[in-house]
Amino acid sequence: MESSAAPTVSAGHDVGPAPVDLLRRLRARGAGDPVTHVERVPARVGVPAPWPAWAPPELRAAFARRGVVAPWQHQAEAATLAYDGGHVIVATGTASGKSLAYQLPALATLLADPRATVLYLAPTKALAADQLRAVAGLELEGVRPACYDGDTPRAEREWIRRHSRFVLTNPDMLHHGILPGHAQWSGFLRRLAYVVIDECHTYRGVFGSHVAHVLRRLRRQCARFGATPVFVLASATSGDPATAAGRLTGLPVTAVTEDASPRGGVTFALWEPPLLAPDSATPAVPAQAAGDHDATTDLVQVRRSALRETADLLADTVAEGVRTLAFVRSRKGAEVVAANARRALDDAVPGLGDRVAAYRGGYLREERRELERALLHGDLLGLASTNALELGVDLVGLDAVLICGYPGTRASLWQQAGRAGRSGQEALAVLVARDDPLDTYLVHHPEAIFGAPVEATVLDPANPYVLAPQLACAAVEAPLTPADLALFGDGAKEAIDQLVEAGALRQRPTGWYWRHRERPEVDLRGEGGAPVCVVESATGRLLGTVDGGSSHFLLHPGAVYLHQGISYVVDDLDLADGCALVHVEEPDWSTHARDVTDLSVVSVRSYVDAGPVGMFLGEVDVTSQVVSYQRRRIATGEVIDTRPLDLPTRELRTVAVWFTLSPRSLASAGVQQADVPGALHAAEHAAIGLLPLMATCDRWDIGGLSTALHPDTEAPTVFVYDGHPGGAGFSERAYGTASAWLRATRDAIAECGCETGCPSCVQSPKCGNGNNPLSKPDAIRVLDVVLENLPA
Ligand SMILES: [Zn+2]
Ligand SMILES: [Zn+2]
Repeated sequence: MESSAAPTVSAGHDVGPAPVDLLRRLRARGAGDPVTHVERVPARVGVPAPWPAWAPPELRAAFARRGVVAPWQHQAEAATLAYDGGHVIVATGTASGKSLAYQLPALATLLADPRATVLYLAPTKALAADQLRAVAGLELEGVRPACYDGDTPRAEREWIRRHSRFVLTNPDMLHHGILPGHAQWSGFLRRLAYVVIDECHTYRGVFGSHVAHVLRRLRRQCARFGATPVFVLASATSGDPATAAGRLTGLPVTAVTEDASPRGGVTFALWEPPLLAPDSATPAVPAQAAGDHDATTDLVQVRRSALRETADLLADTVAEGVRTLAFVRSRKGAEVVAANARRALDDAVPGLGDRVAAYRGGYLREERRELERALLHGDLLGLASTNALELGVDLVGLDAVLICGYPGTRASLWQQAGRAGRSGQEALAVLVARDDPLDTYLVHHPEAIFGAPVEATVLDPANPYVLAPQLACAAVEAPLTPADLALFGDGAKEAIDQLVEAGALRQRPTGWYWRHRERPEVDLRGEGGAPVCVVESATGRLLGTVDGGSSHFLLHPGAVYLHQGISYVVDDLDLADGCALVHVEEPDWSTHARDVTDLSVVSVRSYVDAGPVGMFLGEVDVTSQVVSYQRRRIATGEVIDTRPLDLPTRELRTVAVWFTLSPRSLASAGVQQADVPGALHAAEHAAIGLLPLMATCDRWDIGGLSTALHPDTEAPTVFVYDGHPGGAGFSERAYGTASAWLRATRDAIAECGCETGCPSCVQSPKCGNGNNPLSKPDAIRVLDVVLENLPA
């Protein structure tokens, strides 16, 4: 959700130091220069367009009252495509005014046709509420916009169904409420002219695959009532948005990507915290008994932590009077950054620390607005925040943005950096690299940030673990017919056959019918296994649920569990009852679960035979067990100890990409037989770390396994698999971009300044084997063999 791109008036603040001078002073602080690259992102002049001729005068007047004198070119182009009946996605930057692109055609249609309706979908309730305020603020006669979500009082629901012509909701409510109740919604659906899907880049992976089928179910119900709505999607800048939107909706979609809104210039620096001298590096504490782990090779911190570096930068910019926002990935991390910056400022000038705050999740709207106000008026100069801010607080026009750790995608990076720059003024953005292969690669490969298109949003509607339950939901809503097979796409027939075999559907001459009394229970955001309830022991209060697939990692006994910014420690995980008991406690360590993994190949979907090298995509069965966890100091990352756990094994059928090499090719590349396991293991870690460069996943969405001889491939093999039942599209993407992906992996390892491997290249924070064995130089040899043989 964004405000539309009305030309804004500069608030007339004091002008801070020019970004270039500020950066010069920041980088001169310590020994050595931490800046690896400076990119100048030029200012852009806005290109306004005339109002489209079809936009009625009263609508233009309503926008004019809100300060929009004319649309920008991209808004007018997308709006006209949609008004003419084409499905369209507008994928442009932060604060480029995407909402006008859908509001214009949707509201013009509502004004022209007093019966037409619009359905707006946002990924969160808060975003829908913000959008409701924007639409209601236009005060258009007869539109009667209303939010319809889990918070809507029963008494209001019927009124909304009957009278609202602009209903704002979320995919979960569409799935659980509106589609099952389609009979009550028939009047609304019959007249549906537009479906607006805002922030559609958030529909990725398994969640995105579910949403894709919810939208197909919506289209099916509309078609039954004779309606064929136009889909208008809004996305952050993303790679190949037309294809992603086509996969999401199942329709041909035209993309508008040329951003014509104005933007201030940004000086963008890539910042790598310095390596610590070997004797000052925090030593790993010897582990306690830890199953089969050899934890003596545990992560040794070799660089200054990104949190400390960001806190210092925040203190320095605030001391210069520069309004600065620091993005930190975790809530705890944001608090650590704010606290350290406050302390440093108070040491310099007592009281100055009060100008810095941390933004926690869970703020009320009024509190968020107060923070915005304090920051924009200069009462507050520095704010350390999690990415939660991306979907909530409307903060633009800051003097500097610090990004502590690569946020996972170039799309998010640009969204965060896009907060910098008041109209007509230069701003500074700094990406502070974490100790991680992807971050390290990026600060040494600026072309991967500044020269590359942003990643594609990846989803896989053909995932049978998504398709079958969604078809079951569809069958409850109306019997499935052969005509529905094309709508639900690849794999639909197989999934229906399975549902028939399982006794869930019955085939009759007129179609496939749902056989049970109850509806199937399908959670769009859940992944594998029944959710586990998190209960506070002292009060019996239910704090929330964690999906079954993650429960062993997040809720094992001793785990530190964060909920709404409050820290809890798990006392007991009762898997039979699906319940974890926790108590409030805020230790100064975090916990990191470890697992051991076994993998077998089920089938091969596709492969490339490249002489001594083979590249494969297929289905695998992964068996894993969480066996221990590490406790690490939050401020420094220091490992305190490793503790054993006693949890059962779990099975995962998913999609994997893997490559094999002949032992002979490894030998002639100079990899000694004894070093093959360490070479493959190191290559696997780095490859997992770099996959987010290619697809919108993070390394926690993917798993890996490497072995010098796998029984199914009968060769040295590295597997990388989707961590979600049935796959989420990540491995498929890796397979499709294999040579670029492994080239980046090879370069990341080769260019890391360490000697024998570090967290910036081949060590992994989630290794099930305590990062042992690992051979950095041999990993480069392995990848060279693959790249020499694999066609580009
Ligand atoms: Zn390294
Ligand atoms: Zn490992």
